[in-house]
Amino acid sequence: MTGRTSYDGPAIDVDSVTKDYGRTRALDDVSLKVMPGELFGLIGPNGAGKTTLMRSLIGALTLDEGRVRVMGMNPSTDRDRIKTLSGIVPEAETPPSFLTPDEFMEFVMDVRGKRTNEKQKNWWLAFFDMENQRDQIAKDLSKGTRQKLMLTSAFIHKPPLLLLDEPFINLDPIYQRKVKDYLLVYIKKGGTILLSTHILGLAQELCDRVAILHKGRILKIASTEEIIKDKGDLEEAFLDLVGYRS
Ligand code: ADP
Repeated sequence: MTGRTSYDGPAIDVDSVTKDYGRTRALDDVSLKVMPGELFGLIGPNGAGKTTLMRSLIGALTLDEGRVRVMGMNPSTDRDRIKTLSGIVPEAETPPSFLTPDEFMEFVMDVRGKRTNEKQKNWWLAFFDMENQRDQIAKDLSKGTRQKLMLTSAFIHKPPLLLLDEPFINLDPIYQRKVKDYLLVYIKKGGTILLSTHILGLAQELCDRVAILHKGRILKIASTEEIIKDKGDLEEAFLDLVGYRS
């Protein structure tokens, strides 16, 4: 991994954050810390506030209250540095329509002030079986291939932190497995991940700890192990906490 910081506090520190969109309170007094080396899950139903929280970490919105720090930095003033030190997969975004996989890899490296080489590009094209599409513009790629490119753009510069919003969307089970394995190795090598997902099975399989978010509020933060011991599995705990009764 490159671009390590000398900062040894929490990789992510969210402190009493509130965010309103007009009359909608998307985040309501949210606090959490993700420690270096953790794979931390942010789980919650649609509209829970997961994407809003993710966006606050990359300086993409103004908070109404509270503060966030990413590797000790303030996303609203240190956006470029955070971008260099993290790999970001925003929810439901796709690569620019008229860039090919080859060009997109060069572009994301360039934005981070780095250069890519053929070996590195070939490795990622092979990892996601995209060799035959390397010169095809993104507009003409399948949804799955576009998502593979988004993941490549987050992983290729080997950042110490990954911010992943629904990264498994549009991937078939084979590539879900490949990405899961990649993330586990990444954590073993010392990386840190904040993973937002509503796929509870995946969160249970991968995460060391999870925060359950509902209607903008944190209902629980606990280790996955503790939740399983308590409730059997994450789905049960989740349905119980959000008040769902079949
Ligand atoms: P999640 O990612 O968990 O589905 P979001 O963070 O996207 O949740 O949304 C949280 C709440 O904020 C929802 O009620 C959503 O409709 C609202 N919201 C999100 N983005 C905007 C926006 N740009 N303008 C107005 N309301 C928004």
